Amino acid sequence: MRQDDFSGLLPACCRVGFASIDRYDTDERKAMEAFLPDVQTVIVVAHHVMHSLEWTWFAFDGEPGGETCAADLHAKSMGKRICHALETKGHRNVLLPYPGECGVMFKTLAVKTGLGHLGDSFLFMNADWGPWIHLRVILTEAQIDCEPRPTPQACTHCGACLQACPSGAIMEGDFDGLKCRDGMRGLRNALGKAPTIYECEQCLRACPIGPAPHEVLVSYKYQEI
Ligand code: SF4
Ligand code: SF4
Repeated sequence: MRQDDFSGLLPACCRVGFASIDRYDTDERKAMEAFLPDVQTVIVVAHHVMHSLEWTWFAFDGEPGGETCAADLHAKSMGKRICHALETKGHRNVLLPYPGECGVMFKTLAVKTGLGHLGDSFLFMNADWGPWIHLRVILTEAQIDCEPRPTPQACTHCGACLQACPSGAIMEGDFDGLKCRDGMRGLRNALGKAPTIYECEQCLRACPIGPAPHEVLVSYKYQEI
């Protein structure tokens, strides 16, 4: 199959990137082979988050981990669309579970597809959408003729994300996921039994790259706290 076979499959809010399994290191390959032993190609769906409502997580017992958001439901359904197209050609595929459950970081897999890169915030970003990108990853046994398209570096190293982080999770050249997680938990605990699961977006909103989604809902979140 060729990369072009997938053009027109997804709406304009989503892009798809491809990378041969040969581009990944031994640990990444091992983690992916646990899901699909004969994986040949990594396919990444990148969805542009255009409203903070899309990234407002809410409790949902039917989803793994018991929570979801509209951006993930959409990216997942686009991933299933790609899986279906591959299956009709006789290829086996796996749509990877959400990060934290599968042992590989979607954003590091996505960098090798050329869809974007990691900014100093350690968020996946590109010049068009900034860090407002939600990722899903598909592994397939199909060999897809793909040339990763080089993406211009979007991060200008302005330091705004580092300054904005209330948890001290973003450091020069380093990111402490536990500090970020604890900061998020602090937000959630402050709200008690909220029907929605509140997220901190301060590093994203500080970033000057890409159009930031409408902020009304986020202001509302912080007012409630
Ligand atoms: S989401 Fe919030 S706590 Fe986490 S790195 Fe960004 S600004 Fe810091
Ligand atoms: S806020 Fe500045 S340093 Fe941080 S990711 Fe965006 S452009 Fe890069």
